Amino acid sequence: MTASKKLSTYRKKRVFTETPEPRGRVKKTKTKKPMYVIQLHDASHLHYDFRLEIDGVLVSWAMPKGPSTDPSIKRLAIQTEDHPMEYGDFEGIIPQGNYGGGTVMVWDTGTFENIKTHKGEPVSLTDSYRKGTLEFVLQGKKLKGAYALIKPHGSSFSSPKNWLLFKLDDKYANKKIVNKTKSTLTGRTLKQIAADADNVWE
Ligand code: MN
Repeated sequence: MTASKKLSTYRKKRVFTETPEPRGRVKKTKTKKPMYVIQLHDASHLHYDFRLEIDGVLVSWAMPKGPSTDPSIKRLAIQTEDHPMEYGDFEGIIPQGNYGGGTVMVWDTGTFENIKTHKGEPVSLTDSYRKGTLEFVLQGKKLKGAYALIKPHGSSFSSPKNWLLFKLDDKYANKKIVNKTKSTLTGRTLKQIAADADNVWE
């Protein structure tokens, strides 16, 4: 699927004359490390949006609970529509009545490195995503080190959109997450972002 087609669901859900969220262009060249971002989204339910750059778009999962640095804790990550790369630094207010209406904070951001191997051979990001067996090292401000994001097999798991995110054991395991309530981009809390009327699209 082309990256432009991947964004069609994202665009269909939004009215870009009403929301300040980016319409999104498709990124053509990529020479840099792929981007990682988690946004804290105070919509009808407070949740985290976990996003990884894969093949020109931000592949996205909504997490009812945030990530854990404890390798024994697996967190549900429900796959949502692919988002454009420019979404990675979107912080502000989606006006009520629009899709996802509420406040968005850039909770953590950085890059990541694919570390997935199979029988000792590296597996491409595209392939490990398709197989639902992502393994990567996060280089964020809040989260660091190796994580797995997997799509469990078997009928007991309720929806094919349900994935699990968990920490892999390394020196960053069980580290306390600092500045949990503040934007990594602007240092603001959700309350402060919500109070900043400049971010509302008039
Ligand atoms: Mn969201």
